Amino acid sequence: MLVCIVAVGSEMLTPFRLDTNSLVITERVNAIGGDVRLKAVVGDDVQELVRVLTAAAEWADLVVMTGGLGPTEDDITRDAVARIMNVPLDVDPRIVDALGERFARRGLTMTENNRRQALVPRGATVLDNPNGTAPGLWIERGRTAFVLLPGPPREMTPMLDAVIRDRLAPSAGGAGLFRRVLKITGRPESEVDAVAQPVYSKWTAQEVPIVTTILAVLGQIELHLTASANAREAADRALDGAVAELQTVLGSSVYSVDGRPLEAVVGDLLRARHLTIAVAESCTGGLLTSRLTDVSGSSDYVERGYVCYSNRSKMELVGVPESTIREHGAVSEAVATAMAEGAAGRAGTRVGIGITGIAGPGGGTPEKPVGTVAIAVVVDGRATIRTVRLFGGREMIKFQAAQAAMNLLRLTLASA
Ligand code: AMP
Ligand code: MG
Repeated sequence: MLVCIVAVGSEMLTPFRLDTNSLVITERVNAIGGDVRLKAVVGDDVQELVRVLTAAAEWADLVVMTGGLGPTEDDITRDAVARIMNVPLDVDPRIVDALGERFARRGLTMTENNRRQALVPRGATVLDNPNGTAPGLWIERGRTAFVLLPGPPREMTPMLDAVIRDRLAPSAGGAGLFRRVLKITGRPESEVDAVAQPVYSKWTAQEVPIVTTILAVLGQIELHLTASANAREAADRALDGAVAELQTVLGSSVYSVDGRPLEAVVGDLLRARHLTIAVAESCTGGLLTSRLTDVSGSSDYVERGYVCYSNRSKMELVGVPESTIREHGAVSEAVATAMAEGAAGRAGTRVGIGITGIAGPGGGTPEKPVGTVAIAVVVDGRATIRTVRLFGGREMIKFQAAQAAMNLLRLTLASA
């Protein structure tokens, strides 16, 4: 099934609004084996839309459109579809009645322009919209089915799910694309691919083929595995084997195979061990504590965070000795360790983390260039210490420093 997605709305051709509906649509049609070949964003211009739809009708089995179904003059989706079908627009009295009732229930009178929403290209099927006024439409021409859905995501998504369930999934017969994501941190992309590529390149030719793509995101690498199968069970079997093979070659740098972000993985490790944590942060300015607390339920293990940016606060808040700062410098493994120990000691936790580094762009020296970050993880008084060299702007360095600290904590807990 070849699929084309068209997002209609001039606002998405400005720098201020992004088409997000197409991501949801892609996910849902992939799940039933649909192959999205083209996505387009078209302004509220009937001629432009007719051009795009005419071209799509030449090759697509399914065209999913969102937006432009409202009551105003600039809502032109149904006009464009009627034109390419070469059919008139009829007023559907049931839609008029339903709209009238909806307004009456709210004590409002319906304005005349709302009748536009009751216009239906002849031959189309009306799709109910339980969460709004604009109904959707289904209409076929030759090999191509056109689905018209409203723009607001909370109206669009349930209607899409209904169309998939009632009209598209039955003919797909359980076939589809099935995905897994491996998340990796602490290794460069080139190294990950050098190790993984010989493994995953074999999978494209097997009975249930798996296509793998590598994606470098800030501070982590993702391997996306997509299996194309006739049924979920066959896909799961192939994907389970593939994930296990990659874990074998990539080892402990794989932190997640089930979608969990690093902060949740670390949180689960702490919770399972009945540990609580205190964090002392300098260059990350609280970002690590913030990310740890992005996870619902993190109060089970996050005790507190200290932001100790100045030397004085490192001494006052977590008891770093002045002599340690003088002898080693504020950015040093000795200070990071004293911060971690001090945080755990003052907070009465078994786990402490200290982070101190140079986020830049100023402040670097030849021995300690911008991006130098010292991290210490202390568990029951035993310290694990790393100095990392990170690259990028200030925000990127802060994010990666928090990422590296969580990863060091993960590896420490997993091996303890
Ligand atoms: P419309 O159905 O064209 O009146 O769109 C109504 C509202 O839905 C717009 O103002 C947007 O906020 C939202 N919307 C429309 N299309 C999209 C899209 N492709 N992705 C996300 N939101 C959208
Ligand atoms: Mg619009």
